[in-house]
Amino acid sequence: MKKIGVLTSGGDAPGMNAALRAVVRKALFEDIEVVGIYQGYDGLIKGEFELFELGSVGDIIQRGGTILRSARSPEFMTEAGRQKAADNLKAEGIEGLVVIGGDGSFRGALELSVYGIAVACVPATIDNDITGTEFTIGFDTALNTVVEAIDKIRDTASSHERIFIVEVMGRDAGDLALWAGLGGGAESIIIPEEPLAVNEVVERLKQSSERGKQHSVIVVAEGVMSGDKLSQLLKEEADVETRVSVLGHMQRGGSPSARDRVIASRYGARAVEELQAGQQTVAIGMRNHQIVAYPLQDVFETKDCLDMEMLKLSKELSI
Ligand code: ATP
Repeated sequence: MKKIGVLTSGGDAPGMNAALRAVVRKALFEDIEVVGIYQGYDGLIKGEFELFELGSVGDIIQRGGTILRSARSPEFMTEAGRQKAADNLKAEGIEGLVVIGGDGSFRGALELSVYGIAVACVPATIDNDITGTEFTIGFDTALNTVVEAIDKIRDTASSHERIFIVEVMGRDAGDLALWAGLGGGAESIIIPEEPLAVNEVVERLKQSSERGKQHSVIVVAEGVMSGDKLSQLLKEEADVETRVSVLGHMQRGGSPSARDRVIASRYGARAVEELQAGQQTVAIGMRNHQIVAYPLQDVFETKDCLDMEMLKLSKELSI
């Protein structure tokens, strides 16, 4: 392979820049030319290409967001859009593409491979919801951001003897809420994989107040319901007063954690190796601390399960 392209797509995640840097530097190290494509699949269709050099990705490993910028591209969802994208790549002599993004971006890559473009997908989303990998880039940074927020909320909750609801991102996945809830010592964690009944939350609040605990933190994943909705339910069904904190987009920002930078560097380099080895449709991930490459189709065929032991443990530890 003589020339590859790289793009970031979907929601941004801290560590995308570190992955981009790894793709560019590893490719150049292997004497492969690299083209940076701006604005995700939109840029592929519009031909927003730039030939990258070693210096193009200098001083970005520590930066959140993505210097290539990201976009959601409705045009790429059409056959005509994808044909245009493939034609643009071929006209540039680009034989392989590294896609850094979430599962929607992976689906787009799979569709693009039909046109004879080799694709290697690097998982980057704070939701950690991609089948086949234990960790996606950005999850660790977002987790640290949420735990830090819970710590601060806990300070004010205990000073004023209040119950706080913290609404956490994650779309349909509960990973971020579960890990942050356990790491932040939340009294209740409500996730889509096992939605907790409101009466169970009330029961837990009652138990903790009976043993003299005056404050509580409830973490709710956005995929179950909003913090406001939960607050309303607790008021209506049990006359419990709560304060709501919606963390929102701050969870997607910030300088990537050391761990995210390291996995991003390893995933990015591995993606280049897979293209170089002639793989056509591959996803990169981590299993048991090892970097793995597996068929991209696998991402859509099954769904990884959350470690429910963690939820059980969080209940045992926050009695
Ligand atoms: P995040 O998990 O952070 O939301 P994502 O990669 O899942 O990231 P999406 O908006 O779902 O984000 O997908 C990004 C882009 O991928 C879309 O805007 C679209 O261009 C492309 N894409 C998604 N699904 C498909 C599909 N079925 N066919 C072709 N392209 C798709």
